[in-house]
Amino acid sequence: MRGALGGPRVLLRRLREVMAEPVSAQDRLDKVVVLIAANMVAEVCSVYVLRVDGTLELYATEGLKREAVHETVLKADEGLVGLVASEAQPINMSDAQNHPAFSFRPETGEEIYHSFLGVPVLRAGNTLGVLTVQNRARRTYTEEEEEALQTTAMVLAEMIASGELSSIARPGAEPAARHAVQITGVALSDGIALGHVVLHEPRVVITNVIADDVPKELKRLDTSIAALRADLDRMVEHRDVADGGEHRDVLEAYRMFSYDQGWLHKIREAVSTGLTAEAGVERVQSDTRARMLRASDPYLRDRLHDLDDLANRLMRVLMGQDHAPGREQLPDNSIVVARSMGPAALLDYDRKKLRGLILEEGGLTSHVSIVARALGIPAVGEIENATGSVETGDAIIVDGTTGQVHLRPRQDIQAAYGERVKLRARRQAQYRALRDRPCITKDGEKVALMINAGLMIDLPHLEETGAAGIGLFRTELQFMVADTLPRTGEQLTLYRSVLDAAAKKPVTFRTLDIGGDKVLPYMRNFEEENPALGWRAIRLGLDRPGLLRSQVRAMLRAAGGRELRVMFPMIAMIEEFDQAKALVEMELTHLRRHGHALPERVQIGAMLEVPSLLFQLDELLERVDFLSVGSNDLMQFLYAADRGNSRVSERFDALSAPVLRALKDIADKARKHGKPVALCGELASQPIGAMALAILGYRALSLSPSAIGPVKAMLLELDTKKGAAEIMPFLDQPIGSVSIREKLEGFAAAQGLQL
Ligand code: PEP
Ligand code: MG
Repeated sequence: MRGALGGPRVLLRRLREVMAEPVSAQDRLDKVVVLIAANMVAEVCSVYVLRVDGTLELYATEGLKREAVHETVLKADEGLVGLVASEAQPINMSDAQNHPAFSFRPETGEEIYHSFLGVPVLRAGNTLGVLTVQNRARRTYTEEEEEALQTTAMVLAEMIASGELSSIARPGAEPAARHAVQITGVALSDGIALGHVVLHEPRVVITNVIADDVPKELKRLDTSIAALRADLDRMVEHRDVADGGEHRDVLEAYRMFSYDQGWLHKIREAVSTGLTAEAGVERVQSDTRARMLRASDPYLRDRLHDLDDLANRLMRVLMGQDHAPGREQLPDNSIVVARSMGPAALLDYDRKKLRGLILEEGGLTSHVSIVARALGIPAVGEIENATGSVETGDAIIVDGTTGQVHLRPRQDIQAAYGERVKLRARRQAQYRALRDRPCITKDGEKVALMINAGLMIDLPHLEETGAAGIGLFRTELQFMVADTLPRTGEQLTLYRSVLDAAAKKPVTFRTLDIGGDKVLPYMRNFEEENPALGWRAIRLGLDRPGLLRSQVRAMLRAAGGRELRVMFPMIAMIEEFDQAKALVEMELTHLRRHGHALPERVQIGAMLEVPSLLFQLDELLERVDFLSVGSNDLMQFLYAADRGNSRVSERFDALSAPVLRALKDIADKARKHGKPVALCGELASQPIGAMALAILGYRALSLSPSAIGPVKAMLLELDTKKGAAEIMPFLDQPIGSVSIREKLEGFAAAQGLQL
């Protein structure tokens, strides 16, 4: 049957001619179905296109009634066509009408056709439509015919993805492939950006789908696979030259896949039907994606990523492209879309052209999010299959305030966002105007607003915001973005630059807060069941003091002749603070003995992040020079709710009586002991949180730089005494009935405060 009309290769060649003809989209589709039906000796060939509303519309047919075109619309799971689309798998039946899913549409006149072969039209694993052939006689289509129809579907996928069909679509019922999508993920970094998609790991764009000479394509495939394997072998042997420092086990997995006979066989089969070698790789990868995207097993999903990478590598070898595409030619207004990304990779992008970031993974406290916030780039995470849903150059909007992403937004959405960007810019200008105003509340209370920082790129924010200092310098960030352990000298250079940039403003350095989930790629990592409760921060620092000592030494030297403020993270027992303080004194003695310039004054503080300290506040306050409350961790431990897991972290409100009572107790006791206390967690960066804290008695807050403006604008209008009179009584009421957040919002509204 294939032989009679030349088989799939002839069909593909004819299709290529049709694709190049200067005809309307509808004419082209009509010609395509006629060609396929003739070639496959089928009485019917139809194309259904998946629409934005999730239904499948008949776009062209040879054999069914013409009147049904654009009239027959199937529900997503209706009939065999719906089944092919939802399962993304071919269906091949000799007696279709007896299949339980069969659905009869009288307008099509299909009741006389018994055999049915339907294949999904796939691109990057997403279903764009369904292609079917039907015959009157009861027959089973051969495996070769099924394969040939799938290959043909690839050509249709190109056509649908190009957006050509939009011109013949009914408004509101456009093809899903290019439609506007709104996806909600997790807001990682504040701000709004409009721009165009740049894939962090670009998919290879295939320009030539149909082979001129199949044996030649098969040969190219073999040569390229040999080159790919040799490449992987070399990389596994020389871990150091592995591009981007990929881990050995990942490379081992790639190598294993590259020898997988099943995978290679499928690609060869696809090429044999008349595709170019790269199109064969893409087709097989698209099928694999379609299957694996339907799996919920995280292990399988990870393997999908590996297979994607491998297929991409192979396509690059075939097309003679370098593995890592250059970042130099980044277009203006780029919005980078990635599966996941390390902090260093983000810093590699040209800051002037990079406008936003979208990740499939990534939590609020992931390192890349921290860097995105430091750079002031809006970012959204947990957007499922983001990389598979976009094409390079697609228009896209990232809303880092709400966590929304608008892909290929409609004109009205674009216009609305354009307005919001302008409004934000105006507001920013208002905040800038407050820059030099002292932060004093309506009732005369001075509140020191400082910034949280951790990298050199954060330092200009000190000047821009007019902040009173750096309330939290997260020293681990330098370690997290580095490829190798920063030496004492490198640490010294950074700390000195920080103190220089801050001039007379105070800087509070926090010693390394690593371990647990803050993993350094170049350090041995211990598997822990509960990393947040594990061997991290000061625990690691005291058990392996080499690292902590070298860091403290670098800080002491950097602060020669000026004040050094240093604090320790995750203190849970008084003894830990005593030991850490003794370590600082030991290093001071050491430096003195070696004739180094010493700091003028050393202030040693503790972070209050572990609830055990709440019950030893008096003893702690007798010892420390200052306290800094880390509300991010304190909240997670008070409620036993993982701060990185939005399923549980959003269950509990920081603005509830138990937390506020604890925070008030800390502020009261610190005042009693005459010791300064600040709060440096995210709570202080939200105007409502900052308002609550000022009411509770906090007079020093350390915030994300972008929060200084809104928080200051609110504080300038706040009367803390009025607030205390209004809010404090609720803290003493039996808990359970009162939401303090609502009370705070009510108070702010009554006072005309902008939250
Ligand atoms: C905190 O826990 O509130 C804090 C400021 O530290 P980090 O977010 O770095 O853990
Ligand atoms: Mg912390």
